[in-house]
Amino acid sequence: MEKERINVGLKASQATSPFSGRLLRRERPLIIAGPCGAENENQIRETARAVAQNPMVKIFRAGVWKPRTRPGAFEGAGEPALRWLRDAKAETGLALAVEVAAPTHVEACLKAGVDVVWIGARTTVSPFAVQELAEALRGADVAVLIKNPINPDVALWLGALERVEKAAPREIGAVHRGFSLYERGKYRYPPQWDVPIEFMRRRPEVVMLCDPSHIAGKRALIAEIAQQALDLQMTGLMIETHISPESALSDAAQQLLPADLNELLAGLVLRNLSFDDAQTEAGVERLRRALDRIDAHLLELVAERMSVAEEIGRLKKAHNVTPLQLDRWEEVRNDRLQYGEELGLNSVFLEIFLAALHQTSLERQNQLLASPVSSEGT
Ligand code: PEP
Ligand code: MN
Repeated sequence: MEKERINVGLKASQATSPFSGRLLRRERPLIIAGPCGAENENQIRETARAVAQNPMVKIFRAGVWKPRTRPGAFEGAGEPALRWLRDAKAETGLALAVEVAAPTHVEACLKAGVDVVWIGARTTVSPFAVQELAEALRGADVAVLIKNPINPDVALWLGALERVEKAAPREIGAVHRGFSLYERGKYRYPPQWDVPIEFMRRRPEVVMLCDPSHIAGKRALIAEIAQQALDLQMTGLMIETHISPESALSDAAQQLLPADLNELLAGLVLRNLSFDDAQTEAGVERLRRALDRIDAHLLELVAERMSVAEEIGRLKKAHNVTPLQLDRWEEVRNDRLQYGEELGLNSVFLEIFLAALHQTSLERQNQLLASPVSSEGT
């Protein structure tokens, strides 16, 4: 692999990055790999050497300052780690990605020739913190990745993007890393794909990556999440990789051995982003027109259902009866769930769909109750 020559004695302003220009968009999938945290010089050197063997890996990640949920855990090696990373970059040619949570971190990273800084999930939640980082990043020759906030709030995520964007660093991307929930389930930070999809809908030009390691929380689940992310047209993946995961000082259960990373990457299926022959495309267009008609029909039926619910609402109002009728809701729910399942519909979808239908009918009836009697003609 070609080596980057780095003059360790250079000041930030003099150290032009060999990756200036497009780093996040060079190819799909963009793979960022490396340990959760930089622990010592040997771990960084050996992990970087190992992941650099795989030509798919273009960027080496490592946390230098670790945001830990509770104090007392490994909080990162701090600035000395930047020297280990700089040496690893010089040897392997990999670009470097480091998390920043304070302007001092940004300054140190820029001095060390870090190519990508990322704003972590616990920082994205705070507009004050993001604003301070944005100021520190003003005009910097660095790419910035913004992880989603720990709560599924697309506006907060987009807001962080906008703050950083105004400071105009070289490139900006986003990373879906799942959300903190009170309940512990299959995943450590469950993905809510509708949130990054909404982000991508609003800002289609922004590169969206996925961090399946933090979503999964355990090695065995990483591959399936990585594949799902690519199938959602995400540009790439950030995957925690460690030379000896078992003894990692943070996130030991979710880091992959470099050999397992290779296996995972080799198993990924990279699908086309669109159809590439006109005949298939025309066939798909016909099917899409059929979907359009069905959706129109569906909406008309929902509107019809709403007017029937409204009529019932008028009777409830006239007879001073509560809009919510628990027994009836129980009956409707069970009946439709059963019929929907017979039709082959997914039960989670049915639950959401039926709850939404019922909720909107109830809201309409509540509005009727709240409005003056005369306007309802009862
Ligand atoms: C990390 O990438 O190591 C990290 C701390 O991520 P997040 O901000 O997604 O928790
Ligand atoms: Mn981690």
